[in-house]
Amino acid sequence: MTPAGAPDRGHPSAPVPDAGSRTGRRPTEEAGREIAGTGVDAEGRCAHYRTERDVVANRCATCGRYWACHRCHDEHAGHAFGRMPLDAPDAVLCGACGHVMGYREYSAHPACPSCGHPFNPGCAAHAPLYFALDAPDAPEADGLP
Ligand SMILES: [Zn+2]
Ligand SMILES: [Zn+2]
Ligand SMILES: [Zn+2]
Repeated sequence: MTPAGAPDRGHPSAPVPDAGSRTGRRPTEEAGREIAGTGVDAEGRCAHYRTERDVVANRCATCGRYWACHRCHDEHAGHAFGRMPLDAPDAVLCGACGHVMGYREYSAHPACPSCGHPFNPGCAAHAPLYFALDAPDAPEADGLP
C-alpha cells in the first residue's frame, strides 16, 4: 500500500528486464506489415539478397504474406510462390518505409515512390517469379538463380 507519490527509497534504478525495448524497430512493423524470410533485417534484406538496394518484399497470392525473396518463400512456405496479378494494388512492400504498391507503380520507379530508397534493378529479372506476367519468353521458376 505505498502511496503513489511516496519517495522512492531502497529501490535503485534497477535495469528493467528487456521488455520489448528492442532497438531498430522495423518501419514495416509499425505499418502493420511483416516481412517473412530467412535472416530478414530491419529493411527487408534476407540471407539471399543482402545488398543496400534489396529492400523490396513481394507478396504471395497463395499465403498472402510479404516475403523478402522467392528463395525465402521456398524454404518456409511449403508451396509454390503464388504470383500476384499485375493490377493488385498491394503486391510489393518497401522494406525501408512500409509503403505498399502494385506492380505497375513498382516497375515504373527505380526507387521507392514514397521514401526514395533505390530498388535493385536486378529484381526485374525475377519479375516473372513474383507477378503473373504472361511474357512468352518468361520461363517457369527453374533457370533462375
Ligand atoms: Zn506463399
Ligand atoms: Zn531470401
Ligand atoms: Zn519506401
